[in-house]
Amino acid sequence: MENNGMPVVKFFSGKKVPVELHKVRIVQKLHLKTIEERYKAISEAGYNTFLLNTSDIFLDMLTDSGTNAMSDNQLASMMQADDAYAGSQSFYRMESALRDVFGKHYVLPAHQGRAAENIISQAFISEGDAIPMNYHFTTTKAHMELNGGTIFEIYTDEALKIKSTNPFKGNIDLVKLNDLIAQYGPERIPFIRMEASTNLIGGQPFSMQNMRDVKAIAEKHGIILILDASLIGENAYFIKMRETGYSNMPVKEILREMCSLSDIVYFSSRKVSSTRGGGICTNNKDLYMKMRDLVPLYEGFLTYGGMSVREIEAMAVGLYETTDDTVISQSPSFIAFAVDEIDKLGIPVVTPAGALGCHIDAKSFLEHIPQSEYPAGALAAALFIASGCRGMERGTISSVRDENGKDVLADVELLRLAFPRRVFTLSQTMFLIDRVNWLYQHRKLIGGLRFVEEPPVLRFFLGRLEPVGDWPSKLIKKYKEDFGDSL
Ligand SMILES: *Cc1c(COP(=O)(O)O)cnc(C)c1O
Repeated sequence: MENNGMPVVKFFSGKKVPVELHKVRIVQKLHLKTIEERYKAISEAGYNTFLLNTSDIFLDMLTDSGTNAMSDNQLASMMQADDAYAGSQSFYRMESALRDVFGKHYVLPAHQGRAAENIISQAFISEGDAIPMNYHFTTTKAHMELNGGTIFEIYTDEALKIKSTNPFKGNIDLVKLNDLIAQYGPERIPFIRMEASTNLIGGQPFSMQNMRDVKAIAEKHGIILILDASLIGENAYFIKMRETGYSNMPVKEILREMCSLSDIVYFSSRKVSSTRGGGICTNNKDLYMKMRDLVPLYEGFLTYGGMSVREIEAMAVGLYETTDDTVISQSPSFIAFAVDEIDKLGIPVVTPAGALGCHIDAKSFLEHIPQSEYPAGALAAALFIASGCRGMERGTISSVRDENGKDVLADVELLRLAFPRRVFTLSQTMFLIDRVNWLYQHRKLIGGLRFVEEPPVLRFFLGRLEPVGDWPSKLIKKYKEDFGDSL
C-alpha cells in the first residue's frame, strides 16, 4: 500500500497514518463556538442539522455533495472558460476528458446527477417496468417511480449488516437477479442499474467480478447495464485494494474496465469531479439518440446542458484527478482511519470502512431510545452540541409515514459523517473521534426527539423537532465537568 503513492504511511511505532499529499493554499475560516452557543444554534434549528447555519458549524460533515475541495489546476482552468451558447470549446474539452476517462464516445451534459436520472428514466422506463439495482439512491428512486417503474433492490445478505468483513457489500445477488428476470421477463426490464460505492448503505463498493457476472446475465437476456458513476473513483480504489488481481493496476485502468462493462454511464459531478453538474455517456448511438433530444428540452443546449462553462472546465480537470491514485485515496483513507479508531473504542460503526463517510450505528449506540424517538436524529443533535460537527441523520426521520400516518421504521439508524475530499485535516478528524468517544461514554444522558413541525414530503430537510425531556442540559453540565472551559 505504501508503495502505490497512497497517502498512508507507517510510523516508527507501527501505526498506519494517512498523510495529506497536498498542501493548503487557500483557506476558509472556521468557527468553533462554545457549547452554550452550539446548544442555542441546534435549538433554533429545530434539532435538524439541515437547518443549521454554517457560521455555527465547526466541521461540516453533512455531505460530500458539492463540498469537495478544488485543486489549483481546477481553479486555473476556469479562467479559460469559453462563454458560448453553442459550440463552446469548454464543452469539447470536457467531452474529450470523458472519452478518455470513461472510454465512451457520446456525451450528454446535465446540470446535476438527478437531471441525468430524469433523462434516462424518461427515455427508457414505461409504466409497469421493473428495475433491478444493488440499492437505490433517493433521487434515482423518485425519477424511476415518477415514470411508472418499480425498483428492486437485490443486494446480498451482507449488505445491511452493520459489522461485516465482506469487502464488497455493494454486490448484486445474482440468484435474485435471475429470479427477477424470470418473473418479469426481459421485455419488462429496461435496464439493470449498478451504483458504484453504494451511497445509502454506507458507501460500500461492488467487485469487478460481480459486475462481470451481472453483465453476462444482462447480455444473455438483451438487457442493458447502466452504471451510476457518481462515486466511481472510490469504487475503483476499493477494487484495487480489496480484489485479487488488481493491486498493481492503476485506478484509471480499473475505472475504464468498469465503464467498458456498462452500456450507459451517468454521474453527478458534485461527487465525481468536485464541481457542480453531471452527465451521461455511451458508445451506443441508438441509446444516445433516445436520450439526446431531452437534453435541450430539460437542461440546455447540447454543449452546456445547464452547467456554467467555468464548471465545465473544472469538471474536465477534476475527472482526471479522480483517476489519480493519490487524490482518490485521500477521502477513503481518512474514513478508514476514523472507522478503525472508532471501532477500536468499541463504538458501533459500519464496517468495513467505505466511501463518502463514516457511518455510526445509532440503534446500538443509543439502545435505550426507541426508533419512534429517532435515535439517529438524536445522536446527530447530541454530536453537534458536544463538538460543533454536523452529520446527517439517515434513519427513520429520513423515511416517511404510511397511509395511516404511522412512522415506517427504517432498516438501519445511521449517523453519517461525510469526509469530502481534501477538506479536513487529521487533527480535526481526531477531535471528531474524541468527541464521539466522549458521547459514547455518556450515551445514557442522551434522549429522544419528537416532531413539532412535520412536512408531509421529504420531512428530513425542513422538519423541526424538540428533545423528549431536557436531556441537552444534562449533557452540557457533564461536558463542563469534563472539559472545563475548553471548547
Ligand atoms: C448524489 C448522487 C446522485 C444525484 O446527484 P445530484 O448531482 O445531487 O443531483 C445520484 N446518484 C448517486 C449515487 C449520488 O451519490
